[in-house]
Amino acid sequence: MTRPVLDKEALRRKYRQERDKRLRPDGNDQYLRLTGRFAHYLDDPYTPWTEREPKTDHVTVAVVGGGFAGLVTGARLKEAGVDDVRIIDKAGDFGGTWYWNRYPGAQCDTASYVYMPLLEETGHMPTEKYAHAPEILEHCRRIGKHYGLYDHALFHTEVVDLEWLGGRWLVRTNRGDAFTTQFVAMGIGPLHVPKLPGIPGIDDFRGHSFHTSRWDYAYTGGDPSGAPMDRLADKRVAVIGTGATAVQCVPHLARACKVLYVFQRTPSSVDVRGNCPTDPDWFASIATPGWQQRWLENFTAMQTGAAAEEDLVMDGWTDIARRVRAKLNELDELTPETMRAAFEDSDFEKMEEIRARVDAVVADPETAGKLKAWYRQLCKRPCFHDEYLQAFNLPGTHLVDTDGKGVERITQTGVVAAGREHEVDCVIYASGFEVGTDFTRRAGYDLTGRDGVRLSERWADGMRTMHGIHVHGFPNAFLVQHSQGANLLSNIPHNLVEAGRTIAMIVGHALDHGFAEVEVTKEAEDAWIELLLSGPGTLLGGPDCTPGYYNNEGQDLGLRGWLNVGYPQGASAYFAYIDRWRSSNTFDGLEFR
Ligand code: NDP
Repeated sequence: MTRPVLDKEALRRKYRQERDKRLRPDGNDQYLRLTGRFAHYLDDPYTPWTEREPKTDHVTVAVVGGGFAGLVTGARLKEAGVDDVRIIDKAGDFGGTWYWNRYPGAQCDTASYVYMPLLEETGHMPTEKYAHAPEILEHCRRIGKHYGLYDHALFHTEVVDLEWLGGRWLVRTNRGDAFTTQFVAMGIGPLHVPKLPGIPGIDDFRGHSFHTSRWDYAYTGGDPSGAPMDRLADKRVAVIGTGATAVQCVPHLARACKVLYVFQRTPSSVDVRGNCPTDPDWFASIATPGWQQRWLENFTAMQTGAAAEEDLVMDGWTDIARRVRAKLNELDELTPETMRAAFEDSDFEKMEEIRARVDAVVADPETAGKLKAWYRQLCKRPCFHDEYLQAFNLPGTHLVDTDGKGVERITQTGVVAAGREHEVDCVIYASGFEVGTDFTRRAGYDLTGRDGVRLSERWADGMRTMHGIHVHGFPNAFLVQHSQGANLLSNIPHNLVEAGRTIAMIVGHALDHGFAEVEVTKEAEDAWIELLLSGPGTLLGGPDCTPGYYNNEGQDLGLRGWLNVGYPQGASAYFAYIDRWRSSNTFDGLEFR
């Protein structure tokens, strides 16, 4: 089939126009923190609070965060023989993002076989290619039980301060705990602090409202496993936001509400999902020893352009890379210019297909026009769904497009956009999470390291680590994150699994050899940062993109922004590098004492 010739200059112009409409001077400051009068949005609707005595004891490792990061680190530490691993989480159980996000339709967007960690170790077969949230939450609990991580865990507990005492950290929490730990690992998650849009009048609304990460099933009826939300049958509901969360919950709301208004500032790109149940026979055939590591490496290789003979996952994520590779293969000469043009061509083609899909699915041409995304696919988080666009064909579901400006005002009785008030009984904020704000602000605590230096001071000009894990001046403290390591955003758990393994090997080495402390040298940290900054930066976001959290809402962060990068040669190369580094048992750059 021959493709229609694209007017690339017209597309570039359109992308710029759409971006410019959305640029605003307040950047991240447009959002509200959920403190003070908004604090109730953060209440835990899922687990009752229980009293307990404060802890004043000592453990070998404390882990901040009981999501995937904390769980995989805890699991590897247990495997390394560390018995007293204490995971601390503000939630009432393990799960992290999957504890909080129980909105209807929540499911993983990256194939379960690579997204859900420790499948092979725990012997779990995901029931679907893209598992739904209850199964993922249950898997978190499975990991907790399998590795005995519940024994020392502290739930509904927030760390408020970490202080280095020499040879150990003092951990203080909001429950009055003041215990010590030799090592601390921090897996606080990249997107865990919900935010609200700073819309005038937001506090005036007299109806019901909540954030998607604290879904109020008592109000809506239904449950996270998809039972119909029967209490919405006579309700007019507004959803504010059309990001990855809204894309997943809107189809369920559309079926349940009397009237649903979806308030859109920027459309998401919504590609085909193609979910399907896992065939146990097929799974048995792939789940041979070492299978999950092979799948992880294959998915990452497909993502980052490293050669892979077969695409095991075969989905929208790997399709992006397959197309780029095909374009590159057509080139006679590989230069930065020809490669950039090949990337752009492949993106134009992909986005034209995604826009054509909107026309094919959405019956009303005006609504279809407004649901089309005019930016490069990796400017904003790509979405995949087979029921979202279809929801706009239901008679009670209305798209309220704000032409890039956002909701104007909230009144006592409704939501105003483009000068028109839509009266509603309930406002649901699908407005996302803090990104790009300081680590200590998102963590809710600061670290006071060696010589009384605070992490917030150390990072005043941006994050500086070695491998994304170690910070000079903060001995025995480890970060469990994607940034400054592989930076693989299409499958965050792969970063975490590798970081957890690395940390467990370092702790194991220190304990085996009787070292009290381990710290990255200044030289090694500086050399790592220099290496990171020598690379091409990140493919996501960028100044030409429509604003969003991928590009700090369109505001240039300078060096601070540049520091949110990964290994210059890509994620596969990083994982190979870190495997060699930790296996060498010399842990170059770290000082054990
Ligand atoms: P996002 O930050 O992606 O989306 C927030 C939405 O709110 C955007 O559509 C934004 O518009 C909109 N918004 C903000 N302010 C206003 C306003 N004043 N008026 C109208 N609309 C407004 O949050 P999500 O919770 O959707 O997703 C966050 C991230 O969490 C995802 O990108 C993804 O990484 C992760 N996630 C992962 C899932 C998975 O893997 N299964 C599922 C869901 C989320 P605009 O785009 O213009 O800023």
